[in-house]
Amino acid sequence: MHEYDSFNEDVICALAGAVGEDGVAMVEPMSAHTTFKIGGPADVMVMPRCVEAAAKALDICAIAGVPVTVVGNGSDLLVGDRGIRGVVLLMRENISQVRVEGTRVVAQAGALLRDVAIAAADAGLTGMEPLWGIPASVGGACFMNAGAYDGTTGDVLESVVVYVPGETLPDGSRAKGTVRTLGHDELGLGYRKSRVASDGLVVLEATFVLAPGNVAQIRAAMDDYQRRREEKQPLDMPSAGSTFKRPDGYFAGKLIMDAGMRGASVGGAQVSTKHCGFVVNTGGATAADVRALIERVQGEVRDQFGVELEPEVRMVGEF
Ligand SMILES: Cc1cc2nc3c(=O)[nH]c(=O)nc-3n(C[C@H](O)[C@H](O)[C@H](O)COP(=O)(O)OP(=O)(O)OC[C@H]3O[C@@H](n4cnc5c(N)ncnc54)[C@H](O)[C@@H]3O)c2cc1C
Repeated sequence: MHEYDSFNEDVICALAGAVGEDGVAMVEPMSAHTTFKIGGPADVMVMPRCVEAAAKALDICAIAGVPVTVVGNGSDLLVGDRGIRGVVLLMRENISQVRVEGTRVVAQAGALLRDVAIAAADAGLTGMEPLWGIPASVGGACFMNAGAYDGTTGDVLESVVVYVPGETLPDGSRAKGTVRTLGHDELGLGYRKSRVASDGLVVLEATFVLAPGNVAQIRAAMDDYQRRREEKQPLDMPSAGSTFKRPDGYFAGKLIMDAGMRGASVGGAQVSTKHCGFVVNTGGATAADVRALIERVQGEVRDQFGVELEPEVRMVGEF
């Protein structure tokens, strides 16, 4: 029996009322929504079609005391084999509009950074090029302050429209939330850090501010970044990108290689032979395999070099 059986039927009906009946799925496998292709079922998945419906669904869950896990493109997630209890709010295809306004690009949370960068390039706007190969949704990129090469999301982020959860009530439920716009300086951005993450905010929309540039040069830079990614990273295998954050003064991939862990595996999970900073799913890996491999790598690197590797991949749900 899944936990959703114990949800009040009224909650499911209210969610269907907010996002439409086809926007609610029961016992939805998370392996279909993560780039690792791993993860057990979400009790209930809610896929809003507009930002207003997303905020409404969040209010319904808050008031009913139902836990919510927000998922964007699932490119930084290791979801446990037993899945996620409560509601998964999937902020992807249905809320992915991107529009260019002068030198700004306004994107809904579910748009991919890639689509923001392509819209910017088409409009002759420069600034998104280093970020375009990160397989992030706009919401996930703001949450993580995703970055690559010589750029971070924060470098080009002007403001973000967020849902701010209401206060916690004595019975453990929450009051309704509010929708606010936060400027760049209010976002607490740092290395893989943001106020979106620390304060449990939900990104609904973001505005990027860019500079006029030369279309041919922008496209050439994008091609160059893509080529560098393809050369170095195991893009042909399911993964969640860099498994570990960069430890101060070191590169995680080099430490792992020097520790002799290149190609090490547990079940279907393997330290990539192409880039030791990535754990890949060679087929049929479970979340437990990946977690066990992560712990093995951490142990070897700690024992051999005294360096603590902190996972960048976010582990969610029940393992
Ligand atoms: C092949 C590959 C290459 C990668 N390269 C890079 C890289 O170069 N640089 C880099 O920084 N990362 C990289 N990553 C990791 C990943 O793409 C980023 O961490 C990205 O920001 C995650 O975005 P997402 O939409 O997939 O978020 P998800 O994985 O869906 O979620 C990640 C976190 O963000 C939260 N979140 C998602 N959407 C929202 C929202 N709307 N509001 C609030 N919270 C939200 C989730 O709750 C979760 O805690 C790579 C991953 C892969 C698979």
